[in-house]
Amino acid sequence: MKNLWNDQDAEKAVELWGERWGRELALRAYTSRLIGSEPALVLHGGGNTSFKGTVRNLYGEEVPALYVKGSGADLHNIEPAGFTALDIARLGRLRTLPSLSDAQMTNELHINRLDANAPAPSVETLLHAFLPHRFVDHSHAEALLCLCNQLAGEHLLAEAVSPQVVVLPYVTCGFPLAVAVAHALEKRPDAIGVAVAQHGLFTFGDDARTAYERHIAIVTACEKFIEASRPQRRLTPSCQSEMPPAELAARIAPVLRGVLAEKTGEEDNPYRRMILDWRGDDEVLAFVNSAEAEPLAAAGPVTPDHVIRVRPFALFVPGFPTDSPEDMRKILGAAVAAYGQRYRAYVKEHLGAELAAGVTFDPLPRVILIPGAGAFCFGRTKYEARIAADITQQTLRVQRIAHQMGGYQAASPEHLCAMEYWSLQQAKLGKGARRPLERQVVLITGGAGAIGYGIAKTCAAAGAHVVVTDIEAERLARVVADIEAACGPGTATGITMDVTDEESVRAGFDEACRRYGGVDVVVPNAGIAHVAAVADLARKDLDRVMAVNFLGMFHTLREGVRVLRAQSLGGHVVINSSKNVFGPGKDFGAYSASKAAGHQLGKVSAIELAGEGIRVNMINPDAIFAEGSIESGLWATVGPDRAQSRGMKLDDLPEYYRSRNLLRVRVRAHHVGNAVVFLASNQTPTTGASIPVDGGVVEAFPR
Ligand SMILES: [Zn+2]
Repeated sequence: MKNLWNDQDAEKAVELWGERWGRELALRAYTSRLIGSEPALVLHGGGNTSFKGTVRNLYGEEVPALYVKGSGADLHNIEPAGFTALDIARLGRLRTLPSLSDAQMTNELHINRLDANAPAPSVETLLHAFLPHRFVDHSHAEALLCLCNQLAGEHLLAEAVSPQVVVLPYVTCGFPLAVAVAHALEKRPDAIGVAVAQHGLFTFGDDARTAYERHIAIVTACEKFIEASRPQRRLTPSCQSEMPPAELAARIAPVLRGVLAEKTGEEDNPYRRMILDWRGDDEVLAFVNSAEAEPLAAAGPVTPDHVIRVRPFALFVPGFPTDSPEDMRKILGAAVAAYGQRYRAYVKEHLGAELAAGVTFDPLPRVILIPGAGAFCFGRTKYEARIAADITQQTLRVQRIAHQMGGYQAASPEHLCAMEYWSLQQAKLGKGARRPLERQVVLITGGAGAIGYGIAKTCAAAGAHVVVTDIEAERLARVVADIEAACGPGTATGITMDVTDEESVRAGFDEACRRYGGVDVVVPNAGIAHVAAVADLARKDLDRVMAVNFLGMFHTLREGVRVLRAQSLGGHVVINSSKNVFGPGKDFGAYSASKAAGHQLGKVSAIELAGEGIRVNMINPDAIFAEGSIESGLWATVGPDRAQSRGMKLDDLPEYYRSRNLLRVRVRAHHVGNAVVFLASNQTPTTGASIPVDGGVVEAFPR
């Protein structure tokens, strides 16, 4: 592993933060970032670091303090403010207690903060507090996990690293681990680090650089040991698939997502869905296609710390025919049900009957390995699914290497189970406020235009994951970046799609299935306009408008229903129709006819799809000119002509449309988005209906 320490960068950190926080805390933040930037050391907020210094109190006295990574901070971009300062004298005294419950520990960590507003400190804070060293670095280094997750793993680890590293067996996290490490070090004052099996590495020093460089040196020693001792035992290939993995994944994902949806027991919103992160690179495929994949999938994660993300074992489903969603549903449904039974038995056996009785079971797997198709990793959000997927990629790698060296052996089921139900681990998952479209995927066509963008943004703010599709790749990227910035990483994704092309629409839905697992709400929205009186309308112009507004809507609806059916969870189609359907205007024949055709197709679909729990509704907005900085492409085309025909300037059009409606309001794209959220969140049992979003236009009242 490369030592990333760089004198110039270190001095830059001191220049940036030193004056406010002091040189040592600045360097503490700098080396923490070096650790955080290396995925082979920490993944997604894992690992923690600390520094022992002082805090000046109100009386001007320097009080000894422990600065430790606060919850919510990530080592890769932590700043000095991301460390929570605690009263180390009071924390240190806790070591004299014979035991400390989780609730007591949490309380002590809260009340001993030196700033009441600082974030809750890491759950491993006491370990940092009980060690005498000024700088402590902790990671869950992959190379170390490769060695200790083997039979006689501790011996291998001891053989690999310097004799100045103390090797401990796995110890329960929190107070017991903190005491065990402190105790071990008292007997070994010369130690430069502690490696804890199935957990990770702690190194220390009197300055930031020493603690960091010891960390890198120990991990490098593990890597070299693996390299030198790895026999050439390969995974045994056992699966050959004709179909490309990406195509298989697109077929399997929506069926799997349907099978994994949990029944809520609520009449209006009967399912709690999952979001997918699919991995199908060569390394993952070599693993899932091997004869060893099934036993290793059942063998447990590389550290109990991962169990809340990937469960105590993955689900392996041997290859199956993928021609019909119904057949796949039977096979996958049976596999998931069997997993649930196995999981219940595991908890009952290893958590103890008393604790198990009080546990709310979540019997669903988070990681499903399928030969030929890859790893399907799920979470409540894309962000969570991504964490599960990154952990899974690491797990498969560690399992393969450990297998090649002799045999993979995870922590005991008792340790895994205790960690899964440790209240402090469960707290990391959080509950979060309930939002109307959470855990749902909304696909919008024409998403880079003003209305599409408004719909996407409003749905994402209501908790949905949004697939924004458009032919304009550049505008699309802007819209996606904007939504992710507002609603969080992973909440939006962009797919370039041409709605006039059946193949492109099909490919777009397949890609949506690979990225999120499926689609729950389909919003055909892409539209163009052309100004011409019917008598003067050229056939090619009518064809062009029909191709986007009518055929595009039809392709989107049909492919959307294909995915909704594969999931078998019901769903929604919300068509962006137009005020124009009820209140047409002259010179707009192509647009009006195409929209009216789509509108009628929506009504027919509502009749045909109701039996499957798929609702089809229409929204009829009046003119919308822009949403934020995104201008309407449609109005850029037809606006000048419309203005001219009304004898006004282009800039006066929005005011004209505002003043002609009953409520005298300007209709905005997010109003259309609100209507989509309303319909898609099943607030009323409505299908085949039209909702005007036009401020009230008498001649366009639906009838
Ligand atoms: Zn740890």
